[in-house]
Amino acid sequence: MRGLLFFDLDDTLLDHAGAEARAQEETFEGRRGVFGSLEFCEWLAAYRRANGRLWAAYGRGEIGREELHRRRFADPLEELGRDPAAADEAGAFYLERYRGAWRLNEGAEELLAAAAERGEVGVLSNGFRELQRAKLARFRLERWVKHIVLSEEAGAMKPARAIFDAAVRSACGEGGADGRRKLYLGDHYETDAVGAKGAGWLPVLYNPSRRPLPGPVLHVARLTDAIPLLAG
Ligand SMILES: [Mg+2]
Repeated sequence: MRGLLFFDLDDTLLDHAGAEARAQEETFEGRRGVFGSLEFCEWLAAYRRANGRLWAAYGRGEIGREELHRRRFADPLEELGRDPAAADEAGAFYLERYRGAWRLNEGAEELLAAAAERGEVGVLSNGFRELQRAKLARFRLERWVKHIVLSEEAGAMKPARAIFDAAVRSACGEGGADGRRKLYLGDHYETDAVGAKGAGWLPVLYNPSRRPLPGPVLHVARLTDAIPLLAG
């Protein structure tokens, strides 16, 4: 019986942090008036802090996606003493640049191709529906990915068990996994590894920077290093 081989998208298959940094730099240069005399690194750090806080609030259901989109520019601008009125336009400018800056991480296609030979391949992501589907389309990942499970559609976000259960239903129908091996590869210890483990999946952590981990988990520094783990 073919196992379930599911992957995180942002900062696992796709270099989201790199695209974010490049797009923020282009926004900072292209909309200089919005940022005044701020330093770029000061802006990027404030943006990332605000974005992290807002994603957490979004995850708890306290704010919606429109508010998240608006405030991730408005909040840090205000915090740094700049006029938040420019947030919407700067945010739209950023999103265009972000889409233009997407790159797959090294080994992503090789890993997916190997996975498609060995099991049912899926992507499981907390990101926004339009963006995540656009990423899959841009890189034609449907060549290998047969199941796309997104938090907005599943009604739950990682690390909640419900979204991993939605992935099992997507791949196996209502009958459940029925003893099949279920592997999930992602880059975030809590969200991906702890979440997957709690839902009965085998977690594999993608840790390209080889940072120290808070607990024991199977981990790889290169995506292709996960290929031998696919078959179990
Ligand atoms: Mg990720």
